[in-house]
Amino acid sequence: METAENSLAKGDPLLEIKDLKVSFKTDEGIVPAVDGVNLSLKRGHTLGLVGESGSGKSVSTWAVLQLLPKSAIIHKSSSITFHCKDGEIAEITSFKPKSPEIRNIRGGEISLIFQEPMSSFSPVYTVGNQIMEAIRAHRNVSKEEAEGIAIDMLSRVGIPNPKRRFKQYPFELSGGMRQRAMISVALSSNPSLLIADEPTTALDVTIQAQVLNLMKELQEELGMAIIFITHNLGVIAQIADEIAVMYLGGIVEQGSRHDIFHDPKHPYTMNLLRAIPRLGKSEGGRLVAIEGQIPSPMERPSGCCFHTRCSEYIPDRCNVNVPQITQISPEHTVRCFLYES
Ligand code: SF4
Repeated sequence: METAENSLAKGDPLLEIKDLKVSFKTDEGIVPAVDGVNLSLKRGHTLGLVGESGSGKSVSTWAVLQLLPKSAIIHKSSSITFHCKDGEIAEITSFKPKSPEIRNIRGGEISLIFQEPMSSFSPVYTVGNQIMEAIRAHRNVSKEEAEGIAIDMLSRVGIPNPKRRFKQYPFELSGGMRQRAMISVALSSNPSLLIADEPTTALDVTIQAQVLNLMKELQEELGMAIIFITHNLGVIAQIADEIAVMYLGGIVEQGSRHDIFHDPKHPYTMNLLRAIPRLGKSEGGRLVAIEGQIPSPMERPSGCCFHTRCSEYIPDRCNVNVPQITQISPEHTVRCFLYES
């Protein structure tokens, strides 16, 4: 299979998101969901996006594919540039959601996998049929060639007896096998970027580990970049090169995997780390739950939006002013007054 790395090298720029702001029109008014997100991803690298539900992780990445619902507004100041395989640089925010340009990028350059594969597969077509359809939408191959590629993809993702599975319907496959089949659909167009939105959350721990290993192997083989979205820092530790921690629509800390796991700065990141279950934790040790709930975006707290849950809260500062980005090292940034001079 021809890979994106044939012409473009690992570490080349792939995706740059600048000042991304997304709001939703609702009956109660305009609700901000993503507020000034800046992210960049290099070819062949894995970026972990971490945060609780409602932090804006999925909305940020759906914006990259122009897959947001009609009620969404991407603000004019936002920019999402994507470096295509042919060397073109596409400004994704300039494309209409149904335009041929974004359709080419969706699937052909960027693929998406979800938490629940059953909702991505149609129950009335065989798995093979659906993989073939994805292949033929983006590659100029005959039906016979597409069938060969589809069976090869099923075998690459570790599905035993791929010829038989090719003819089966999604409900005939186990949860882990469906997730593997969905990965094969996503990878069948040889994307430069795979967006994996909580892909292992619905799986038990053993299958979860198998799927993570599979994604790492395929990344190595195909040279694609991955954005891995999860609420679980434990999962991200196994796969990400860089990590962005999101809270209420913004990035509160960003750095390498080493920075986030060995030198975390933001109180929210520290809380997420304390909430990871660990084998051999001291006797009687308890998992630490993060106090309180993520506030509704309709009732966004003033100042630092984490101040309502923060144990380090500085009165009359954290609830009044918005902290700016502080550079801890060239790759490591944090938004918190504890580090502002
Ligand atoms: Fe906590 Fe203040 Fe830092 Fe926000 S700015 S995380 S409230 S210490």
